[in-house]
Amino acid sequence: MTVKTRFAPSPTGFLHIGGARTALFSWAFARHNKGKFILRVEDTDVERSTQESVDSILDAMQWLNLSYDEGPFYQMQRMDRYKSVIQQMLADGSAYYCYCSREELDALREEQMSNKEKPRYNRKCLNNHEHDQTRSPVVRFKNPTDGVVVWNDLVKGRIEIANSELDDLIIARSDGTPTYNFCVVVDDWDMQITHVTRGDDHVNNTPRQINILQALGAPVPQYAHLPMILRDDGQKMSKRRDPVSVMQYQEMGILPEALLNYLSRLCWGHGDDEVFSIAQFVEWFNLDNISPSPARFDMKKLFWVNSQHIKNMDNVKLLEVIEPGLIKLGIDVKELDITSILDLVKTRGDNLNTITQEVAYFYQPQTASQDDVTKHLTDLAISLLNAFANALDGLDEWSLEAIKAMVKEFCAVQNIKMPQLGMPLRLKLCGTTQTPSFDAVLYILGKNNVLSRLSKSIS
Ligand code: GLU
Repeated sequence: MTVKTRFAPSPTGFLHIGGARTALFSWAFARHNKGKFILRVEDTDVERSTQESVDSILDAMQWLNLSYDEGPFYQMQRMDRYKSVIQQMLADGSAYYCYCSREELDALREEQMSNKEKPRYNRKCLNNHEHDQTRSPVVRFKNPTDGVVVWNDLVKGRIEIANSELDDLIIARSDGTPTYNFCVVVDDWDMQITHVTRGDDHVNNTPRQINILQALGAPVPQYAHLPMILRDDGQKMSKRRDPVSVMQYQEMGILPEALLNYLSRLCWGHGDDEVFSIAQFVEWFNLDNISPSPARFDMKKLFWVNSQHIKNMDNVKLLEVIEPGLIKLGIDVKELDITSILDLVKTRGDNLNTITQEVAYFYQPQTASQDDVTKHLTDLAISLLNAFANALDGLDEWSLEAIKAMVKEFCAVQNIKMPQLGMPLRLKLCGTTQTPSFDAVLYILGKNNVLSRLSKSIS
């Protein structure tokens, strides 16, 4: 049997970090089993679904590189199919029209509550064919009345729900549109989904969906309900307080592979391994060792994982991701040896924005802070830098070794310690004292660049 999984977001907002973890697990399980992964957009809530949300979800999936083999399918385009299944169920008696009015249902509910009974539909319309024909009926699923629904959830273990707990679910509204749980069932059936991986807020829907699948004679997939992702302090994540949209992480300079690596470890793990590639994750991943308790989102850890991915990244790939940012700053990376710059700076930040800034000051000195200028560009330092510029000018060989030797000799002759030269020098060359080793900076900038920056006044 080919494993087939799906990710089924509702386009009522951007792709949430929890949704991304669900997508990742569904995708990885399909890839691990050489199966298929489907993207299905559950857009039947027409009031809340927007094209903008669809686009942002698709963009986020692409940025994360979670490729799908089929889809995106849109439920709104499958209405005819849902309606024909409803007709079939009406014909075979597994569903029935219900003409009860809202007032009647409210009264029934109140009566049941006052009798301390569980509110549920009393099946008045099941066999009663005398209806108010002016009213458009809803369609209800005829849920079994006895027995239990059982499934072995791949995360939560065995779950058993008595049918007496379940109502005769409305599967089509009075305007004929099918309801959410029904569309999911028909889709999972038609799309031959073998494993449903989704958030555990859907556990309550599962017994209803299983009953409908069984009434249709459809195979029941396996279910894996993933626990929530909480904030570090154990509270629920909120749009207002926390970055919950996947694309906010892109803005923060997180690499997609680092985000996936970090998300993979929320409720799943492989020993003590913390930093790994997505290919490695796919090789290890399975649905049977997911922890059933909620995970906590640790932002510091995410940035650390990101720093490790940046550090391990091939320079060509790293340049590819930061180049758009550099171009925006008007930088042409070809003017200097970008590979050497990346080697020097890739360990100096835990996000791509910082790495971009670290690269940028090689090309364009930053505006130095007044504090730094006052502290480091004293009269003494300026005359030292002038002398240093002269010495550099006389240097015939522009190699790292020659520069190192010359710096050493210069400091000895001037009777100064290295930082006395280094701090003002960095400030003049790059506009910041926070640079990698200054002999390496000198070497990369090249003689002309260095002499021209040293001759410019800064304050
Ligand atoms: N559309 C649902 C959601 O976004 C997911 C339903 C499912 O995976 O079965 O929560």
